[in-house]
Amino acid sequence: MPIVFAVAAALAIAVYQFVPDSPWWVGGGQLAVGYAGVAAVLVGASRLPRRDRLPWRLFAAGLAANVTGIGIGVLSTEVWHLVDLPTPADPFYLLLYPFCAAGLAVLIRRRETGRDWTAMIDATTITTGFGLLAWVYVIAPSAEGGRITMLGEATQAAYPIGDLIMIAMMTRLLRGSGTRGVPFWLLTGSMGAFLLGDTVWVVMGNLIDQGVPVEGIGWLNRALESIFLVAFSLFGAAALHRDARSLGAPAGPSVARLGRVHLALLTLASLVAPALLAVQLAQGDVHNGMAIVVASAALFLLVVTRMAQLVRQVERQAQQVRELARRDELTGLPNRRAWNDELPRALENARRDGRPVSVAVLDLDRFKQFNDTYGHPAGDRLLKAAAAAWHGHLRTVDTLARYGGEEFVVLLPDATEDETREALNRARAATPLGQTFSAGIAVWDGAETSDQLIERADAALYQAKNAGRDQIIAAANRPAAAAARK
Ligand code: GH3
Ligand code: MG
Ligand code: MG
Repeated sequence: MPIVFAVAAALAIAVYQFVPDSPWWVGGGQLAVGYAGVAAVLVGASRLPRRDRLPWRLFAAGLAANVTGIGIGVLSTEVWHLVDLPTPADPFYLLLYPFCAAGLAVLIRRRETGRDWTAMIDATTITTGFGLLAWVYVIAPSAEGGRITMLGEATQAAYPIGDLIMIAMMTRLLRGSGTRGVPFWLLTGSMGAFLLGDTVWVVMGNLIDQGVPVEGIGWLNRALESIFLVAFSLFGAAALHRDARSLGAPAGPSVARLGRVHLALLTLASLVAPALLAVQLAQGDVHNGMAIVVASAALFLLVVTRMAQLVRQVERQAQQVRELARRDELTGLPNRRAWNDELPRALENARRDGRPVSVAVLDLDRFKQFNDTYGHPAGDRLLKAAAAAWHGHLRTVDTLARYGGEEFVVLLPDATEDETREALNRARAATPLGQTFSAGIAVWDGAETSDQLIERADAALYQAKNAGRDQIIAAANRPAAAAARK
């Protein structure tokens, strides 16, 4: 269906190049292709689920107004002899912009879950750069001529402003998340064609103003008009495409990307202001000083905001990575890495405050057997449940960490041997599913390193296992000679 339509439209545009040079033929040709595009958009919309139709109806309204403007334009010049701006056709032409912008806004809103500030800032940056160019070369000059009325000037300025709104929405669409199938590119191509057409139109207008007789070149006018016909047809093809619905399909949360092309575009947009200033300085006449100042300030703020966003994002991710690296995935407890950071700090605090500190190493009894009997997933669940139960029976100041496998360590600041034993006994009784653990505890002797302290607790654990399991044994002090050697 879209293929048939596209081929027919292409043929029609080809034939259009050869229609007689009368306004009626030319206008008629444009109306035929234009309304065909509108009809295609309406047909495409009617085939979509009800809630997906709104953006396409808005597009159809904008296109229909624009095409109607062509007809009214012919009538204005040929019948009513109205050529001064604004002509009766201008309001119709201009309606394209708000309707298309509204349609795009609806599409963008549906494609994205949540607001995408990054895409918004990028779109604003690029639009500001283009906006300054448009202001200096198109909008401001249109007010200088003094040949036309205020309303005429406003009409003339409305076109580039409409184009800017389109550029803003397009960059927003391109920068945001969501699927990018064929209809996406057809739609983008259509908008691009409208923008290209408007740009060529402005350039031709400038050339005419400078006395270059481009209006007399028939094929040039035909080519320019064909750009708009292509735009109408691409829109129709997008709507008829069987994936048209995917355009409004919500995408997952976007990841802020900053590819090479994006970066180049943002850089270029940011450099528009200084480049214009340089050009005007070279010409010896800075006549858009204020506009350049305003745009520069806006661009600086946008770039700084973008940078702040990136930095904040990196910081957030670094924090997440740090946290992930220190947490055991299964039990949610601090892991061995976190423990190895924590223990020397705790010993240092105990030394400073002159208070005791104990550690315990505990190991589930016959866990291999549990795994073999009930399966590995059940073993995992036991580890998780046991960690939670023990944690609940320790003091809030105590740190329980997973040392590896089914082996855990506890740091008990300010706890004597008896208090440590008491706390662990409470935990042992709370072990789920009738399971037990053995533990070795060691009270810091005030001089040994964290490795030596753990080593003593581990040796005590070994004794507890050998003594029949399900018990807690306190480590012997280090031999005096070892302690003296330190
Ligand atoms: P003991 O009483 O001497 O400590 O005997 P045990 O069976 O508990 O000790 P052993 O070291 O022989 O076996 C430990 C078992 O723990 C072996 C291993 O498969 C199991 N294990 C280690 N990490 C995990 C884990 O994350 N999930 C599960 N389900 N099992 C684990
Ligand atoms: Mg074990
Ligand atoms: Mg073990």
